[in-house]
Amino acid sequence: NVSVVLFTSDLRLYDHPPLRAALDDARQVVPLFVRDPAVAAAGFAAPNRLAFLADCLRDLDAGLRARGGRLVVRSGDVVDEVCRVAAETDADVVHMAADASAYAHRREARLRRALEAAGRRLHVHDAVTTAVPPGEVTPAASDHFAVFTPYFRRWSGQRLRDTLGAPRTVGVPDDVGSEELPVRAELPELSPGLAPGGESEGRKRLASWLRGGVNAYEDRHDDLAGDATSRLSPHLHFGTLSPVELVHRARQAGGPGADAFVRQLAWRDFHRQVLAARPDAATRDYRTRHDHWRSERAARADVEAWREGRTGYPVIDAAMRQLLHEGWMHNRARLLTASFLTKTLYVDWRVGARHFLELLVDGDLANNQLNWQWVAGTGTDTRPNRVLNPIAQAKRHDPDGAYVRRWVPELAGLDAPLVHEPWKLRGSDRVAYDAYPDPIVDLAEGLARFKRARGHD
Ligand code: FAD
Repeated sequence: NVSVVLFTSDLRLYDHPPLRAALDDARQVVPLFVRDPAVAAAGFAAPNRLAFLADCLRDLDAGLRARGGRLVVRSGDVVDEVCRVAAETDADVVHMAADASAYAHRREARLRRALEAAGRRLHVHDAVTTAVPPGEVTPAASDHFAVFTPYFRRWSGQRLRDTLGAPRTVGVPDDVGSEELPVRAELPELSPGLAPGGESEGRKRLASWLRGGVNAYEDRHDDLAGDATSRLSPHLHFGTLSPVELVHRARQAGGPGADAFVRQLAWRDFHRQVLAARPDAATRDYRTRHDHWRSERAARADVEAWREGRTGYPVIDAAMRQLLHEGWMHNRARLLTASFLTKTLYVDWRVGARHFLELLVDGDLANNQLNWQWVAGTGTDTRPNRVLNPIAQAKRHDPDGAYVRRWVPELAGLDAPLVHEPWKLRGSDRVAYDAYPDPIVDLAEGLARFKRARGHD
């Protein structure tokens, strides 16, 4: 007998419950990935993520081949393609991972109906794309937690399943056809400094993170120039690493750095349980509705300057240029740039979230939309009216100015604190740096506009 394993956001062989269950049940399995044009049509096929995905699929195929199998890739509507492969191989069961978005819920429901109509079964596995599945811990009076701290308390007390090893052998029927795997090099418009994808790469990065970086994480995670976070986010997004395994291994490593890292992994599960319960939070204000954003037309020039990294605020511009160059941005930089757009420029968070999703290699519906809402004060932040001051924040998290100098070459000759406030230069000194723009907004005026607008909502 044959089982199908549908890979989605779980592109790995280690700690993969659907693959393990399929291998336990069946003599042969079909490891399947479907390239669904609906994902591209909905605007989620950003070049940087397609490139990372191409790496992931090649590495998954290589891992399966090393075990006697291979990856089967098809294109088309995901439900039609899975049913077709199941019919071709007369598979009894299709195994897949549960996921949080409205799209994932619809996909699961449609697939279940279609398979059952053909006398087959769908087995959906929890704790593959999250450590703690959405809905597993809930407060007394709701289907999800709206505040992180009490969620984290309950999340921390949950017993996680054990980690699974990678299978030794995977037998795949010979006669199942597959398309060619996509190739990263053939994709246009990639960020030049984009990280490589794939499970092998993810496991290497994880091993070196646990050997070294994690120990300093608590003290250094906000140091912009130090770049002292794990950079595992694209691997978590594509599931080349397992969140359950990460929590277990960080807890084994122990210490304040590992504890702080586990707490961030809980944030990821937190946002997923919000999105699973309130799928419309991907586009609509989650907790507090705000209607007085500046119109797209009024803000167009400011938004362009923000996107291109020429707002005249060095730390904001450094961050936006890092995003363009790497398809990734440091968390503190994401907080600053999102606060600047939504609170200082008073532009709707959806405008910023869209730009991030066009570029971020870890661009993720739950994490991106709900972090944007958190910063904009429409989401789960319990202090929704805090505004981050980019100058004070730059002095604190880039005290030496190295982050700004790395990404804003026009200011490479300046030391801190001037590098964070080049408008303070006078006379010929200012002229020497006039390739760098003046600030597009006065912070005090931005703050006054913010207060006025919030007063109207
Ligand atoms: P580390 O600090 O090493 O953290 C480890 C892991 O914990 C991360 O890989 C991530 O999976 C998770 N994590 C960390 N911080 C958060 C957080 N605030 N919320 C949820 N999970 C978190 N993260 C994404 O994965 N995709 C996004 O699209 C995304 N968009 C964001 C947009 C904004 C406006 C903000 C403020 C944050 C966003 N984040 C997003 C969260 C966070 O910035 C990134 O996860 C983090 O910077 C990734 O770097 P890292 O892997 O080195 O993180």
